[in-house]
Amino acid sequence: MAMAASTTRAGAPRHVVVVGGSIAGLLAARALVDHVDRVTVLDRDDLPREPAARGGVPQGRHAHGLLDRGRDLLEGWFPGLTDDLVAQGARLGDPGERGVWCLRPEPLAPVSTGLQMLLVSRPLLEWYVRLRLLQDGRVEIRENSSVLDLAFSQDEARVVGVIVADRDGGVPTLVPAQLVVDASGRNSRTTEWLERRGYFAPPEDVRRVDKRYATHRVRPIAEEAAPLAVAVAARPGVPRSGILLAQEDGRYVVSLVGRGGVQPPVAWPEFVAFARTLAHPALADVLSGMQALDAGATYRFPANRRRRWERVARFPDGLVVTGDAFCVFDPVHGQGMTVASIEAEALGRCLGEGSDRLAERFHRAAAAAVDTPWTIAVGGTPDERGGVPFPERAVGAYLDRYLSAASADPDLAAAFLRVSHLHGSPRELLAPRRALRVAAVLAREALRPSARPLRGATAPQPTAPPGAAVPMGEIR
Ligand SMILES: Cc1cc2nc3c(=O)[nH]c(=O)nc-3n(C[C@H](O)[C@H](O)[C@H](O)COP(=O)(O)OP(=O)(O)OC[C@H]3O[C@@H](n4cnc5c(N)ncnc54)[C@H](O)[C@@H]3O)c2cc1C
Repeated sequence: MAMAASTTRAGAPRHVVVVGGSIAGLLAARALVDHVDRVTVLDRDDLPREPAARGGVPQGRHAHGLLDRGRDLLEGWFPGLTDDLVAQGARLGDPGERGVWCLRPEPLAPVSTGLQMLLVSRPLLEWYVRLRLLQDGRVEIRENSSVLDLAFSQDEARVVGVIVADRDGGVPTLVPAQLVVDASGRNSRTTEWLERRGYFAPPEDVRRVDKRYATHRVRPIAEEAAPLAVAVAARPGVPRSGILLAQEDGRYVVSLVGRGGVQPPVAWPEFVAFARTLAHPALADVLSGMQALDAGATYRFPANRRRRWERVARFPDGLVVTGDAFCVFDPVHGQGMTVASIEAEALGRCLGEGSDRLAERFHRAAAAAVDTPWTIAVGGTPDERGGVPFPERAVGAYLDRYLSAASADPDLAAAFLRVSHLHGSPRELLAPRRALRVAAVLAREALRPSARPLRGATAPQPTAPPGAAVPMGEIR
């Protein structure tokens, strides 16, 4: 549908439409609202009045944790968020002190990091953010509003709104906007909508992992202090992993993950037995003191997918892409919501600097924001041609040793956790002083007669063969 453009190319947008009212869409709306008159968020789901899982966000039933960097950003937009959620039963703790991270495969050394991990169920977090956003009179959130297409100016050089219908087949209508933000998640249709108007699809980097999740909400049988988080990583030869995270109300969520198409069982006794087959018993040990509160849920995560919108030669004005629609990560390090926050911050900043070439500037900023988490999430995973790029193989081999050393060295463990929480760059772990420390710790541990040899301390360990490669520092 072609429409007349309603603003000049250099003019600041007055009305923004955000497609998708999940975390990326809500945060984009919050970051943009200070720069425009109005923001309308459209979601095809009915949005729950209470914290509850919903169909448009099926991953919300599975283990979700908010990294410290994401919590910082959310706290900036919604002051008091951490305290409010803790008052509603969420848990807060230093991941180095309150988490057990079995990565290679011994746990990272316990350490105070100064980081705060906020442990709250995904439905409660999204519900809280939605309510806070709605307190701003400039924001409207419309449920049961399915976006069917983009609307374009006559020359198709500019997006001027979206075509919306309710899910039940109501008459499609135009919602005009000077800026449309695609935050519709991994199944975004922007590529298809643009190709129909003669634009090219973006180059994509796809890394298949074919992971299958099984998840239960659980509660401790006795009132014992359990860790706030327990993670057991996959290893070459053990392509299974698991993570348990505290949530509100004394509950926990536990997800078991099979790689390469292996589906962990959902029935509780078999679920617990599967946990026993992980590379470290820590998770199964904690689970043995828990009872399941539900029948369980499953999820398939086929592939990491990075759409390189920053590399397309031609892109319409009045449109940007963010969140999982821009890049979907393997949830291995729980980075998606934090990356969406970083992108939202970048979007607000880019618009604050002017609307000229907004998409180009924002997509470049978003790509820069994605670089680190992408490296962390996919390092070692074969690309579409079946190969693992050399730099990733080398870094993966080094990380293997780093994490082995970090199980004996609190300083290395703290540095790893900071990078995992998206404070700083993975390059910090490669700094010469850290590499020397890794070598020294591994040598020291190898010489200790009573010590169990750490992986990587003796003969070099093979990196995983293509197809069985395990991302660096994989948690699940
Ligand atoms: C198993 C799993 C575990 C994860 N664990 C973590 C974790 O621990 N920590 C973390 O930070 N991240 C985690 N993630 C990632 C996280 O869920 C996402 O990155 C995050 O939700 C941001 O996604 P999004 O808002 O871009 O898209 P989504 O959450 O997928 O939401 C897309 C929204 O768009 C709506 N929509 C779609 N199409 C249309 C349309 N045409 N019209 C209108 N509305 C539409 C949908 O209804 C939905 O509300 C995990 C992901 C998975 C799969």
